[in-house]
Amino acid sequence: MVRKFFVGGNWKCNGTTEEVKKIVSTLNESEVPSEDVVEVVVSPPFVFLTLVKSLLRSDVQVAAQNCWVRKGGAFTGEVSAEMLVNLGIPWVIIGHSERRSLLKESNDFVGDKVAYALSQGLKVIACVGETLEQRESGSTMEVVAAQTKAIAERVKDWTNVVIAYEPVWAIGTGKVATPAQAQEVHNELRKWLHANVSPDVAATTRIIYGGSVSGANCKELAGQPDVDGFLVGGASLKPEFVDIIKSAT
Ligand code: PEP
Repeated sequence: MVRKFFVGGNWKCNGTTEEVKKIVSTLNESEVPSEDVVEVVVSPPFVFLTLVKSLLRSDVQVAAQNCWVRKGGAFTGEVSAEMLVNLGIPWVIIGHSERRSLLKESNDFVGDKVAYALSQGLKVIACVGETLEQRESGSTMEVVAAQTKAIAERVKDWTNVVIAYEPVWAIGTGKVATPAQAQEVHNELRKWLHANVSPDVAATTRIIYGGSVSGANCKELAGQPDVDGFLVGGASLKPEFVDIIKSAT
């Protein structure tokens, strides 16, 4: 298979030690398709990264939810890519819409972060997606292309990049994109990569969907030819995350 199915769980700013241990034990005790079929990555808050990594089954990987844009130093409150590498954390989510909107992370800043994280050896889940207003004004592809362009201008090797298409109107709202809506944007994004990066990058880069994915809607979304997996928020804290992983088969 050219593009292995990918399921990420973004726990956001949730959890106590006890809750985190419970989520991990549910995952550890579940039967999921093998690593050859699906790549599974969970992303706890920074403070739980080491705990989760130490308790989690070895076929599920761990991601941070963010990292600093350059080498660490006098940046109070930030966590650097080097620190994540030092902890043995292989993945990082960059450019999540909550950070773009609440913390005003621009396309260029996100692009810089992606490039720096990759340069340090991290693998990156890079998030893009339009707001409801942008969709309704017909500028979805323009917005998503501009976000992707800021990454493409700074990244040469796409091997360790997964793009998460996450329409902002679908995140945490229970209003999931229809399979046709997701497929349309994923396909356009792939065409954009083909034209602006390379045919090989377009063919091999995984484009995953995020936004109110659940056990109930994952199967139909997973059946779309350009949907290579999911980034899951709310449902990744629940046992139904296992059903979403199973949608890989
Ligand atoms: C997310 O936070 O990346 C996300 C997709 O959230 P949810 O699944 O809750 O919509």
